Amino acid sequence: MGAGLRRKLIVGNWKMNGSRQTVRELLGVIGARSKALGCEVAICPPFVYLDLCDVVLSATGIKLGAQDLSEHANGARTGDVSAAMLTDFRCRYVLLGHSERRASHGECDEAVARKALQAITAGLSPIVCVGETWEERQSDSTHDVLSRQIRVVADVLARSGQLMALTVAYEPVWAIGSGVTATADVAQDAHAFIRRCLAGYSASIAQSVRILYGGSMKPENAAALLAMPDIDGGLIGGASLNAQQFLSIADVATALEAVQ
Ligand code: PEP
Repeated sequence: MGAGLRRKLIVGNWKMNGSRQTVRELLGVIGARSKALGCEVAICPPFVYLDLCDVVLSATGIKLGAQDLSEHANGARTGDVSAAMLTDFRCRYVLLGHSERRASHGECDEAVARKALQAITAGLSPIVCVGETWEERQSDSTHDVLSRQIRVVADVLARSGQLMALTVAYEPVWAIGSGVTATADVAQDAHAFIRRCLAGYSASIAQSVRILYGGSMKPENAAALLAMPDIDGGLIGGASLNAQQFLSIADVATALEAVQ
């Protein structure tokens, strides 16, 4: 399987932004254009807006995702949200191991791996975020960091025969919310390296796993990034809060789908 058989996926990560009013406004515009999009599109709102998003998106082809889940199935876990609760709201995707959660909630690779297994067991597709800090890039340890982050998750999923359910998001920490984007060549190098790591488990699964790029993706840089052979879509933060910018990125992905 080559890049042409991995359908482009554009995911909006709203982080901790929005209100009931802005959710309705944003999704009203995005939903109205959804039928014209030839790529797959998903939105990951804060938990509290999942129900509203589910209702507003039900007549569109846009999928729903969450920004995290508990590594536990249920029980005395105040404040946590389980994988089963997310499928109850028809979530298809869940972001896991975002660098903001790794940094401010102390999430380690092992916890991310346990969450990925919980997600898959409940029928969700985990989008596991990996990426190096600026200091790690400067000290030439980007590949070491990526291989460790991928290995811990892939070991657990491969042991359970679930590696094919994985989606990866390469998000260099220095590019997130900074306005600084990795060049297409820098991102392609990291994506190809991640695919080689996955090929150590299964060559055919490595070819089918989608690897998204995240980090200040905007309409202006989306075409160069999304045209790279190992970049299968985008995880969009800031630009996903602007309907026109988000749709412009989805249009770029749609155009690339048409030529592949
Ligand atoms: C993100 O946080 O997942 C992200 C990619 O953010 P931004 O696009 O704002 O850099």
